[in-house]
Amino acid sequence: FFFFFSMTTGLLAHQRELAAVNRSLETLVLLFSEALETANLELERLATRDPLTGVHNRRHFDTKLLECFQTSHRTGTGFAVLLLDVDHFKQVNDTHGHTAGDTVLQQLAHLLGENTRSVDFLARYGGEEFVVLLPHTPGGEGSMAVAEKIRTAIAAAEFPEVGHMTVSIGVSVWNPADIHAGAIVKRADKALYQAKDAGRNQAVAAT
Ligand code: GH3
Ligand code: MG
Ligand code: MG
Repeated sequence: FFFFFSMTTGLLAHQRELAAVNRSLETLVLLFSEALETANLELERLATRDPLTGVHNRRHFDTKLLECFQTSHRTGTGFAVLLLDVDHFKQVNDTHGHTAGDTVLQQLAHLLGENTRSVDFLARYGGEEFVVLLPHTPGGEGSMAVAEKIRTAIAAAEFPEVGHMTVSIGVSVWNPADIHAGAIVKRADKALYQAKDAGRNQAVAAT
């Protein structure tokens, strides 16, 4: 009898131990999956965002552009692209230093965010160039209105130490005849050069 009794209590103790190990394993798995989720979010941020300004990067813009292009081909909805280039930005670096230039770029990104809607896609296209994709603004007039809103907001803003800044903007809309997505950006770029040539601080619609 004593033999069976001690064997049963031994088994029970063993079972309790196993249950405890199980619980701590479950806690560990939970902690690891939370850490993994955080790491994945951070990885995604690194892959899609511009480190200086926090807006989307060029690579993510290209993906989004292609997505909009394909959707428009399927549904005929259309979308618009605003290409912005800061006027005389080199002067900011030359006069106030590269760090002051960086701060201006951050402030510009912030202003762009404030003057676009959450559905609009904002990215840093290059050094002092930004791009705004308007997925729900198919018409030229609507997109020019957004461009003007952005342009005036920037021209009116005060940049600490630096003073006032202006931007030139090229605006283009999707055309059903476009064979590839790059054509829309190319038109916006051409319009941007026209805005520069015409004296800067203006938005020009692509023809
Ligand atoms: P424009 O009106 O014709 O556009 O003149 P601009 O001076 O803006 O044009 P330019 O292309 O001559 O100069 C762009 C400058 O932007 C040169 C480059 O050093 C600066 N730049 C590019 N990326 C960065 C950046 O990340 N930080 C800073 N501080 N400057 C940058
Ligand atoms: Mg430039
Ligand atoms: Mg410039």
